Amino acid sequence: MGAESLGITDGFVGAVGNTPLIKLHALSALTGCTILGKAEFMNPGGSVKDRAALGILQEAEASGALKPGGTVVEGTAGNTGIGLTHLCNARGYRALIVIPETQSAEKIGLLRSLGAEVRTVPAVPYRDPNNYVRLSGRIAAETPGAVWANQFDNLANRRAHFDTTGPEIWQQTGGTVDAWVAATGTGGTYAGVALYLKQQNPSVRCVLADPHGSALYSWATSGALSSDGNSITEGIGNSRITANLEGAPIDDAVRIDDQQALDTIYQLLWQEGLFLGGSVGINVAAAVETARRLGPGHTIVTVLCDSGDRYRSRLYDSGWLHAKGLRQPSRAATVGATT
Ligand code: PMP
Repeated sequence: MGAESLGITDGFVGAVGNTPLIKLHALSALTGCTILGKAEFMNPGGSVKDRAALGILQEAEASGALKPGGTVVEGTAGNTGIGLTHLCNARGYRALIVIPETQSAEKIGLLRSLGAEVRTVPAVPYRDPNNYVRLSGRIAAETPGAVWANQFDNLANRRAHFDTTGPEIWQQTGGTVDAWVAATGTGGTYAGVALYLKQQNPSVRCVLADPHGSALYSWATSGALSSDGNSITEGIGNSRITANLEGAPIDDAVRIDDQQALDTIYQLLWQEGLFLGGSVGINVAAAVETARRLGPGHTIVTVLCDSGDRYRSRLYDSGWLHAKGLRQPSRAATVGATT
């Protein structure tokens, strides 16, 4: 009898995926829709990026590019690096992570605790050769026995979501999903799930969520890559169309500002008991907006990407928020607003 039939998972790898799909009660009641969040913060490395990291590693092993004792190099806003480092530990590789110094201290500290070799670099645009993604590619090329995970343009990323996240959502909703809503960083989650759901039912509405400071909302709505403003959210938004986003179906797009995202994550904490990160605020606020656009009676699925624990010194710190010109939502106002 195999381990799986006894309810035992096979190590860290076996624990990735098969996350719950959580009904968000207050927001469902508010909109008359069923709003569901895929609980990706429950992956063993704590985020949606465990799936992409695993898919990328498995393809690199299968192709022979990654050999025992080899090194995996990646440029990451944090979560992909965290997933990769767990997996490297579990499978006998070294992890070398390049991360912009603007990312939360919690994520950078965690990478170091996990044993990654971490290089923090100034945050500069993609067109600059010292951009963290481009630098990580050069380091990989110069390091003997290293592979570059290249999550933005390596299609193993979206294949992981096409093969796992998409089918799980289809099965968990019994095929009743009407709309799929997600922000994109690499585009792997959004595109992999959108392509799978459209294959099952072409009328599933795929909605791209975007923060300010990203060019994807304007690209999706007008065809032009342009952006203004900025966002305190981490891991989402982009100035270019990655290979993972290329060709993904987009029926609609929603832009959410930081205050709305903040209000949403505090509402999730106080009304649902869920402690989540900033990209979740963009996703869930965009799911609520999609519910408004579609009208009552629809089933809308989005992603709960990671935990609030990764941003305690930022999103959950009133002084930090105040310095960014944002208002920390008050519990009385939030709970009172929808009950
Ligand atoms: N939210 C967070 C917190 C992330 O770290 C990421 C990954 N960059 C995303 C959302 C977006 O996921 P994807 O790269 O699959 O577009």
